[in-house]
Amino acid sequence: MTAGAVAAAPVTSPLDVERIREDFPILRETVNGRPIVYLDNAASTQKPRQVIDAIVRHYERDNANVHRGIHELSNRATDAYDAARQRVAALLGITDTAELVWTRGATEALNLVAYAWGMNRLRPGDEILLSVLEHHSNLVPWQLVAQRTGARLRFLEIDDQGRLELSMLDDLLTERTKIVSLTHVSNALGTVNPIREIAAKAKAAGALMVVDGAQSAPHLPVDVPSLGADFYAFSGHKMCGPTGIGGLWGRRDVLEAMAPFHGGGDMIEWVELESSTYAPIPAKFEAGTPNVAGAVGLAAAADYLGGLGRDAILAHERALVAYAVQRLREIPDLQLLGPRDLSERSGVVSFTLADIHPHDLATILDNEGVAIRAGHHCTQPLMKCLGVGSTARASFYLYNTSAEVDALVDALHRARGLFGY
Ligand code: PLP
Repeated sequence: MTAGAVAAAPVTSPLDVERIREDFPILRETVNGRPIVYLDNAASTQKPRQVIDAIVRHYERDNANVHRGIHELSNRATDAYDAARQRVAALLGITDTAELVWTRGATEALNLVAYAWGMNRLRPGDEILLSVLEHHSNLVPWQLVAQRTGARLRFLEIDDQGRLELSMLDDLLTERTKIVSLTHVSNALGTVNPIREIAAKAKAAGALMVVDGAQSAPHLPVDVPSLGADFYAFSGHKMCGPTGIGGLWGRRDVLEAMAPFHGGGDMIEWVELESSTYAPIPAKFEAGTPNVAGAVGLAAAADYLGGLGRDAILAHERALVAYAVQRLREIPDLQLLGPRDLSERSGVVSFTLADIHPHDLATILDNEGVAIRAGHHCTQPLMKCLGVGSTARASFYLYNTSAEVDALVDALHRARGLFGY
């Protein structure tokens, strides 16, 4: 098989994956003399030519600071930057673009809510409801806020398939609950949480609902406002966009009522020595020179994903995961983690293999050109719940193929052999 080529696919996909792979220059790379099999998409995805070109074009033709210059380049950069917000908003179903705040990624978006809302409003005795599934990005900011405000953290637990114990909600949601902040999709297990249902209950209890969409925006056809939440955080680099750009969608009235997060240029209306008034949303939350090229690149990624079709991307990943799960079950001593019903999970497959340390597995696989993730996946409390120190994780995206699943399975068989199983 030549680098970047695809074998006959035993999965039925609505995507023309062979053609799509042509858009991703990095997929023609070799690793240790083998075609790269990139299965670490939950950590970060690869970038299509369209995104790379948009960033290069921006720096070659339109680069200048935005919203400040009265010259042609600044006007062009400002137009591209403002249009980028509309293009990304359109992908996510956001009609009021003022509700989309650029951030560095999901981590900064969650910190924005924790600090600008939580730090200012929470009082001793208030409760923040999280789950044991959360990425550290949706845990540590709330720990910091709880330590400073005296609020208390409560946690939804999971069943043996890594699904939230929704029966706990009725007891946990009380008049003390001020924030419910949950991941839409678990980065470690792939569990898709029923966010609409939970958001409805959180709102009925009078709590603010925050969704960590880092793993749902890239993979599910999410219409953000219709989730019924107040906030939704996402990262560009996990959805074919560049690093250093992502966003926070927030309900207009909630964003307008909030104090700023960072202070500086661009977020103000008028500044005196002792005090300032602030710009309307979203600028109020976007202090300093923004990541213009990042926004332009993410907009190109949004167009790319929209062009392929969000439903088609999901159908492709579901077919691939079904095939991967079927093939991985052939491997003796391999234990799959996460929901057994594949309609309850996204493109993440986490597993352990006998007592081989996941880091050893990942190293052996890397020697064969297969990139997977091994470790705690920034979910140390979840690993503790599952009774494992770490797992191996293969995560798929729109350019992955069944031939790559086969390469993963073959490499795992060889790894087993190396360890004498
Ligand atoms: N939340 C989840 C579920 C994630 O998977 C990640 C990244 O892996 C994050 C938050 C943090 O995203 P970022 O590092 O892009 O800010």
